[in-house]
Amino acid sequence: MLDRNHCLALDAADPLRAFREEFVLPEGVVYLVGNSLGALPRGTSERVRRTVEDEWGGRLVGGWNQAGWYEMPLRLGDRLAPLIGAGPGQVVVGNTTSIAIFQALAAALRLRQDRRVIVSDASNFPTDHYVAQGLARLLGGYEVRDVSEGRFDDAAVVLLSEVDYRTGARRDVPAVTAAVQAAGALMIWDLCHSVGALQVDVSQADLAVGCTYKYLNAGPGAPAFLYVNPRHHDTAENVLSGWHGHAEPFAFEAGYRPAEGIRRFAVSTPHIVSFAALDAALDVWERVPMDQVRAKSKALTSLFVDLVGDALELVSPADAEERGSQVSFRHPDGYPVMRALIDRGVHGDFRAPDVLRFGFAPLYIRYADVYDAAATLREVLDKELWRDERYAQRLAVT
Ligand SMILES: *Cc1c(COP(=O)(O)O)cnc(C)c1O
Repeated sequence: MLDRNHCLALDAADPLRAFREEFVLPEGVVYLVGNSLGALPRGTSERVRRTVEDEWGGRLVGGWNQAGWYEMPLRLGDRLAPLIGAGPGQVVVGNTTSIAIFQALAAALRLRQDRRVIVSDASNFPTDHYVAQGLARLLGGYEVRDVSEGRFDDAAVVLLSEVDYRTGARRDVPAVTAAVQAAGALMIWDLCHSVGALQVDVSQADLAVGCTYKYLNAGPGAPAFLYVNPRHHDTAENVLSGWHGHAEPFAFEAGYRPAEGIRRFAVSTPHIVSFAALDAALDVWERVPMDQVRAKSKALTSLFVDLVGDALELVSPADAEERGSQVSFRHPDGYPVMRALIDRGVHGDFRAPDVLRFGFAPLYIRYADVYDAAATLREVLDKELWRDERYAQRLAVT
């Protein structure tokens, strides 16, 4: 059953197949790193050109009013909201994920001042944990506890990723959120590896953060987003109280007065060129049925797991329902194996100490790509092509 022709037939019947044409993908490359940096949507270059040449070049500082730059953090937040199960006026775009994590954690701690424990996940993408540690040091008297201890009863806040960056394991957002809140803590979800890969629903969470350069395809260094549940809009504080979160930024008052609603979580002058690229990426997402994305994602990852078979040790959950849109394997020489694979046109990435990571972006990855990637991987392993000494030297970004 699992031959290449079967995969071509699956591609022909794929309801999402037309979306691949909307991305720039180099010939001969199977790009399985869309979970790290999504591919370039075809509409982005023109959208960015327009922002740079027509808006900036043509209108100069008038762009803030005439080209709608000033409203972009909230306008793009509203455009992104349906992808995470949020409504209008609940999401602000800007800064980076690490900064949004700082804002969200600090806001949660201010809302639960009777408690002194931050629960975080030591195996999460390290920046989340690092920011929690930095905030605890800054405040003094706070403990950062690992989620594996399973104790929330004295926690102020719990910060977790929906999908684990290394293993691809998916957490049950409604169940975890309910348990955390029942223990009296606030729940912050990091959606970096789930937004654009599956239908997220943060509507019960207290706060959520995520980046837009992974599955959302907004480009390198694209802005992050921050969701705040409306029940906290009047009471949550933005400790990064920059002027864009002020009630009247252009009153230039000496004292900080927070804006109403989600706007108070804006910090500073938005990165308009990057926002333009996100706007173009969202033009694509507006037309994407997320149930089909999830169905294809599960089919692609399952196909890859089946085709690789026992050639490598599977790190990700075996059940597609329990994964995000990535598959990870373990190999003691994972780094040179990945380099050998990339040399043959199959792009995954490597996460220390020994994990080979493959992301499957359902908008532009075909079933035949999965077949080719698995065949190349098996060849690299069977013939030990990774032993070539060229592949041993580590590059700066793995
Ligand atoms: C990718 C990722 C980040 C990225 O943080 P930046 O501040 O944008 O560099 C943060 N957290 C998680 C869980 C991620 O996967």
